[in-house]
Amino acid sequence: MDGLMMDYPLTIAHLFDRVGRFFPRTELVTRRPDKSIHRSSYGDFHARAQKLANALQRLGVKPGDRVATLGWNTQRHLEAYFAVPLSGAVLHTLNPRLSATDLAYIMNHAGDQVLLVDDVLYPVFERFAHEVKPKHVIVWGHGGPVPPNTIDYEQLIEPEIPSFAVPRIEENQALGLCYTSGTTGRPKGVVYSHRAVVLHSMVSAMPDSLGLGQADVMMPVVPMFHVNAWGLPFTAVMTGTKQVFPGPHLDPASLLGLIASEKVTFTAGVPTLWLGILDALDKNPGAFDTSSLKAMVVGGAAAPQSMIEAFEKRHKLNVLHAWGMTETTPLGTVSRLKPHLDGRPDAERFKTRASQGLAVPFVDVRAVGESGAPVAWDGKSMGELQVRGPWVARSYFQNPVEADKFTMDGWFRTGDIVTFDAEGYMRITDRSKDVIKSGGEWISSVELENALMGHPAVKEAAVVGLPHPKWTERPVACVVLREGATATPAELREFLEPMFAKYCLPDAFVFMAAIPRSAAGKFLKSALREQLKDYKLE
Ligand code: ADP
Repeated sequence: MDGLMMDYPLTIAHLFDRVGRFFPRTELVTRRPDKSIHRSSYGDFHARAQKLANALQRLGVKPGDRVATLGWNTQRHLEAYFAVPLSGAVLHTLNPRLSATDLAYIMNHAGDQVLLVDDVLYPVFERFAHEVKPKHVIVWGHGGPVPPNTIDYEQLIEPEIPSFAVPRIEENQALGLCYTSGTTGRPKGVVYSHRAVVLHSMVSAMPDSLGLGQADVMMPVVPMFHVNAWGLPFTAVMTGTKQVFPGPHLDPASLLGLIASEKVTFTAGVPTLWLGILDALDKNPGAFDTSSLKAMVVGGAAAPQSMIEAFEKRHKLNVLHAWGMTETTPLGTVSRLKPHLDGRPDAERFKTRASQGLAVPFVDVRAVGESGAPVAWDGKSMGELQVRGPWVARSYFQNPVEADKFTMDGWFRTGDIVTFDAEGYMRITDRSKDVIKSGGEWISSVELENALMGHPAVKEAAVVGLPHPKWTERPVACVVLREGATATPAELREFLEPMFAKYCLPDAFVFMAAIPRSAAGKFLKSALREQLKDYKLE
């Protein structure tokens, strides 16, 4: 039909141009490894990223080539976020917390041609350097000499001109590549297109999604190597938002210091991190000024309701619970109260806010039960969450083995077990591998964990199912107590009793010093089950 709209490609080239033109004075702040603060701006970023794109071309990087990064959250990392895709290449962020074996596997699987690495993470690279073959290793240094056979980043970009002729980029072209952190098996690669990242940024910025605007100050604590810091650096460039990069310093005092000094309004990270921050705020009343903060996004694992309540009631801080996956770029759902739910009693409000929330626009959701049919949205019926949308993967990168994760009718099987209530709020009850099957009933390990973490003596709790001769499996709670606190199994059981049906209560409570974690900071239940494999249930 004539009279229609232009066919304008949705690529990050537009976001990049726009931020350089409209927001050159908006600040970018980075904490260096020596803890000093580097202050810069989008204008400087805009020039330097173009220099980097020119340098990469000079090194022979071609469209479609993979360029890896091994770095903390810094302005330089943001330069790579744009320079690599603008040159037509694919940005592959590596997670330094993975094992050397996994990192070597991932780099080889991705076929990375170039590696950009923080000097402070170079020792991580050295552990697997002999197993991989990037053509160039570029080091983000801090003045000193760089290791032999590597290129100093500043020296590399210094002679380049700050203007890059962006080749034609198609919106469905690859922009980035991330591997799942392998909580549930070998890491799998997910390829993000320009279109996916642009649409994801637009929906993330909406006020009822994560909500980000030019008046905000955004500090991504979630690492830029973990699902692109949930896409937030891209979103913030789109909205012209000041960004504060904490570098390698992720301890509560350093983060709270930046929140106060930079007047951070918006930040995001995994629950473990916020539990640490909560602890620091509780222990040092009045020491940190957090009055600028409007939203702390928590995702990647379930945010305990007790934590959401504690932040709000004790520190007037607003936790925004969100769900997503590497395969979903990652934003899928966000828990914000609909206006008519806001007036409800506290108990109800917090319960809803602790759910994973409503699917954001353009993400379709359904929960499929054991029969293969979608379950009712009654807040009780459990099924496997399946999703589809313009930023949901349709396959894994060069991995035909996992093809069964994608259904014939175009949905992605998340492996998460969920319920939906009549309002549409989704609640994750488990990962399909972690749900406890006891005497024909499903018991949610997540609900038990969250309840236990509401006990004043409990710092952390993870619940796993152990084999049982009569019931198939029974729940066992692994508990880490707070410093100096005490609690007996009987006390913990009594604490849970009013909240759960009797068959859901753990058969045993095992106290430990720490719960094993994955590279993304999540409980590693496979390791926990392994640790408890000789444990005999009565
Ligand atoms: P990995 O699969 O290696 O853990 P991802 O970061 O892709 O790496 O993890 C996605 C998974 O994390 C989801 O499938 C879900 O199980 C879990 N998850 C993410 N956000 C939440 C949340 N808000 N509540 C509970 N679980 C979550």
